[in-house]
Amino acid sequence: MRESGKESLLAKNHASSGARGEERGAEAFLPPKPEPTLADLKEAAAGCRGCDLYKNATGTVFGEGPARARIVLVGEQPGDQEDRQGRPFVGPAGEVLARALAEAGLERAETYVTNAVKHFKWTPDSRGKRRLHAKPNGGEVRACRPWLAAEIAALKPRVVVILGATAGQSLLGSAFRVGAMRGRDLADTEWAPHAVATIHPSAVLRAPDDAARAEMYEGLVRDLRLAAELLGAE
Ligand code: SF4
Repeated sequence: MRESGKESLLAKNHASSGARGEERGAEAFLPPKPEPTLADLKEAAAGCRGCDLYKNATGTVFGEGPARARIVLVGEQPGDQEDRQGRPFVGPAGEVLARALAEAGLERAETYVTNAVKHFKWTPDSRGKRRLHAKPNGGEVRACRPWLAAEIAALKPRVVVILGATAGQSLLGSAFRVGAMRGRDLADTEWAPHAVATIHPSAVLRAPDDAARAEMYEGLVRDLRLAAELLGAE
């Protein structure tokens, strides 16, 4: 049975998805055929110009994992390492995620990992030497959403894991908040029979001290364990 809070989230999501004709978006770059494969999507996304983020990034960082994956993990956007290597979750946050997945009883190789936004958004540091993560805005998240929707449609996963607020807002609407939605099965979303929200693994790296870091990491593992249980019960 759906919860009223989630129903209102989904309703807001649908209500907010229209009337933005002035915005560009990835829709025009999707492969012109019904039910494209992940390979079709990845090839097409390499040429996406649906928003301005492609201009300052090395390339599109598409999702990665087996086409038979029953669980999909959705993050925010590629980071510096991901942009350089062209693969999602290969930097420090990816290491945290891989460790937490293993502790929760999930094999990263059995999961499909992707991001709400497929190009790296960054600003230079004060010395102009490092590229610092910049949060994608609502228009950029909306512009990129067709790729995420198409990936999930091709995979038909049983469980979607929402890693952080940006992924949640892309999938469940702008009212999504991790703190209010984590730790339970967000059953029967439009994306999969089960969805679990948790923090983005980079939040563990940004924790102010060791105690906070340990607590955040434990919370991440706990939420991933729930995802593993839901997958096992399928
Ligand atoms: S961020 Fe998404 S919508 Fe924008 S150019 Fe990249 S792939 Fe296209």
